[in-house]
Amino acid sequence: VEFLRALPKAELHAHLNGCIPVPTLRKLAAEHSDAASLPENVHAGIDQLQKGVVLEEIHDFFGLFPAIYALTSNPEALAEAARAVLALFLESDPEAPNGQSQAAYLELRTTPRESAHMTRRRYLETVLDEVERYPGERAALIVSLDRRMDAKVAEEVVDVAVALRNEGRRVVGVDLCGDPLAGDMKEFEGHFSKAKQAGLGVTLHIAETTENTHEDTLRLLSFKPDRLGHATFLDVDARDVVFSNKACVEICLSSNLLCKTVSSLDEHHLKHYLECNHPVAICTDDTLPFRNSLVGEYALLLAQKPLGLGLSEQEVVRVAGMSMTSRFALPTAQ
Ligand code: IMP
Repeated sequence: VEFLRALPKAELHAHLNGCIPVPTLRKLAAEHSDAASLPENVHAGIDQLQKGVVLEEIHDFFGLFPAIYALTSNPEALAEAARAVLALFLESDPEAPNGQSQAAYLELRTTPRESAHMTRRRYLETVLDEVERYPGERAALIVSLDRRMDAKVAEEVVDVAVALRNEGRRVVGVDLCGDPLAGDMKEFEGHFSKAKQAGLGVTLHIAETTENTHEDTLRLLSFKPDRLGHATFLDVDARDVVFSNKACVEICLSSNLLCKTVSSLDEHHLKHYLECNHPVAICTDDTLPFRNSLVGEYALLLAQKPLGLGLSEQEVVRVAGMSMTSRFALPTAQ
């Protein structure tokens, strides 16, 4: 574990609202200005998250978020949640004897939500204020577009991300996330090309389930993403494109096992990417429901089979190095 803690590694795929520590959620629920407006299931939901959720399939997962969102819908609560998530990855880990943090660098991602208390721009500014408390070599923000967004909202989100980047704020990329079967991806192409032109990195959740069609996957690859989230079910044509573009694959082992998109580590697509010397980044995805950590994900690489993948220390060093080289570019002023 000491070896893993000391290894410089970048967390490149962590969703803000999926990584809020349980004690922070409890505090936000207790302090909520209008307890009557909280959905009845919030406290039960937090108890459940603390115990650990059992998902029958990946679609069950998205139902967890409305309760969490009820607690982060004003700027003060959102700032507190963002601070806690940044600290989780970047401050000294209380379990580490030498005070190392989980990650040397964090690209935190989040989907801006409009509420009675804030616009989408204010949402992003609130998170950026917290991200920018850390120096540029430690933290940056990726703006997520949800597949369920309508065209007007998606356009607004990309426009705000580009505007903030042009103002020198530390937005480094855009992401496509959300229910893997939702939305018409034809409508999203223009948004991602606009983001690319503005110098933002592009990462897309892709081929997360067996139900994602060949057309959906090839269309997303035609956006020329720099990185891919999960990329679990790429067929031969799609793999050819990914290998020739060298798009880094963000790998979330526990997430895939718990959402049951991969049945065992032995069958995980990571093995294929490693054999082909293709860039990957090991990531946590959502530490709140999955109760995982970045060091724990790396431990799965090192642990002997069948508990882990049985990689050598030298291979794990190489994998961690790939996460550091796959970071998106910071704005030039930083
Ligand atoms: P947020 O963007 O900070 O609100 O983080 C939570 C959101 O991330 C969820 O509502 C999902 O849209 C998205 N998300 C988290 N994990 C996954 C995943 O594995 N696949 C697709 N979307 C995800």
